[in-house]
Parts: sequence; C-alpha cells; structure tokens
Amino acid sequence: MKDKIVVALGGNALGKTPKEQLELVKKTAKPIVDLISEGHELVIAHGNGPQVGMINLAFSKNDPQMPFPECGAMSQGYIGYHLQNAIREELLNRDMKQKVATVITQVIVDKEDKAFENPTKPIGAFYTKEEADELEKTKGFSMKEDAGRGYRRVVPSPLPVDVAEKEIVKTLVENDHIVITVGGGGIPVIEEGNTLVGVPAVIDKDFASEKMAEILDADYLIILTAVEKVAINFGKENEKWLDEISIAECEKYIEEGHFAPGSMLPKVQAAMKFANSKKGAKALITSLEKASDGIKGLTGTVIVNK
Ligand code: ADP
Ligand code: MG
Repeated sequence: MKDKIVVALGGNALGKTPKEQLELVKKTAKPIVDLISEGHELVIAHGNGPQVGMINLAFSKNDPQMPFPECGAMSQGYIGYHLQNAIREELLNRDMKQKVATVITQVIVDKEDKAFENPTKPIGAFYTKEEADELEKTKGFSMKEDAGRGYRRVVPSPLPVDVAEKEIVKTLVENDHIVITVGGGGIPVIEEGNTLVGVPAVIDKDFASEKMAEILDADYLIILTAVEKVAINFGKENEKWLDEISIAECEKYIEEGHFAPGSMLPKVQAAMKFANSKKGAKALITSLEKASDGIKGLTGTVIVNK
C-alpha cells in the first residue's frame, strides 16, 4: 500500500529572493522526489512569508494598492512555477513518469473567527507614525509598531475551515499526479452564497497543511523545517531533542512554553491535531534533508496518539 503524505515546506526550502529561490528549489526537489521514488503519494504545501512580503512591498507605493489576497495568489503562482519545474526536472533526470502541477488554492475561513477582532501578523512595508495614522484613516488598515523598526500593517490569522479546490486536488492525487497546493496557507476567503470573497489575512501554513492532510485522508503529515528534531529547553544548556512525543506530552510542553509561538508552536499544534484526527495518523517534524530518513523512522520527531 502506498502511503499518502502531505509535506509542508518551510522558509528554508525556498529562500527569500527570486534568484535564491530558483537555486534552492533544485535542492528542495531532491528529498521530495526521493519520497516519490520510495513509492509514496505526495501533496506539497509551502510557506510564503518572504515572497508575499516582497510582492506586497513592490505594489505598496501604488494607489490603489494591490489587495493582500491578490498578493497571496501571485505568491502561489510564483513559488509554484519554480517548485513544479524543479520537481519536474528531478523526476525526468531519474526517468520517473509522474507529472507535477500547482493548484491556486483558496482556504475558507469563518468570518466569525475571533482572530478577525485581533490582527497580529505584520505584513509588508515599514511606515512612520504619521504615515501609519494616514493609512488607518484612509484605508482602514490596522497598523502596529513592530519591534522598534517602525509601523507595519497587521492582518488577522484565522484558522482554516475548508479548502475550496479540495475535489480537484483529490482527483489529481488519485491519478498519481504530484500536487503543490495551499501555498502560504492558502488564499483566505469567506463564503458568501456562491461567491468566495478574499480577505486580508494570513492562514498559518502548518495549520492549512494539516487541514489538507485531514481532507485527503492522508497517512502522514510531514512538516519539513530547518531543524532535524523538536527540542524541549530549545537553545538552553539542558536542551533535549525528542524522537517521539505523545499528545499528553505535547500538551504539557506547550503549557511549559517550550515551543516558540509563530515558529515551532504551530507545527507542534498542527502535528497534534493530525495525530488526533484518526487512528494510525502520524505526524513527523524534521528537516528537509532528513525527510526520507524520517519516514523510515531513523530520525525526526514523531507525534502520535497512542
Ligand atoms: P518554517 O519556515 O519552516 O515554518 P520557522 O522558522 O517558522 O520555520 O520554525 C522553525 C524554527 O523554530 C526552527 O528553525 C527553530 O529555530 C525554532 N524553534 C523554536 N522552538 C523550537 C523547539 N522547541 N525545538 C526546535 N526548534 C524550535
Ligand atoms: Mg514558520
């Protein structure tokens, strides 16, 4: 039996500039195609922080500004273009016949999500206090001071509820195609009758990947990042790298503050949610380079519901 795997790629898989990304995706394609060659069905998700930031910034002097959901859509296309070509080339180099494509993916959020009352995610350019006040007045943006570096627009980070293109992704996967989807956590939309309305927000890519894994009835959620394992007391003298974490241990470690919010915390939370979603569901957090070893149980941190 083939395992169905949703792989979430982090910032280190893509880099920051177009040139860097074009180079890095070649490296990223190798562990991905390793997994495919080992017989797994793969669905690939990825972050878009630096890319959507760059796109947003490039348009920020325009009036009217490019709306943020449109920036997200552009980032999916731009990243997907590089990533799908790198994977295509790696497949061809190994005489493999699978095909790969990117699906521009919208993720439905709940307009009553509490996150909309408290925008937290800084995006795009830095502004002075005066400019920030002006943008709040004229555009209705929420502006916040960002760590002494100036003012930035902040947007909410709602939870993913559903994936608008899920049937299409399913059909492609069932036909042995490799799919790149929910890029940057998906373009956040709310449903209004038959209309999907884009909202300025950022859905965490770890949560969106988890949602996709549940929807596709995947066997594995693999979150690939810059570290080989999850640690407690991370960066401290008594740092301890973990091979396996039970749900109860996850809860205890979260309570004790071992996982940094915005980086390791959402990964552990997404992993827990997936492990809890069905019997036999496994979540793995490891580095891009160790993906293949990780799935063989040789490294990484596995989160299981026992
Ligand atoms: P990504 O772009 O893959 O989402 P992030 O930078 O958001 O990556 O999160 C991964 C980073 O989280 C690691 O590189 C590490 O520096 C940091 N981190 C924070 N807490 C921990 C922890 N407890 N164990 C391991 N890494 C941690
Ligand atoms: Mg991250």
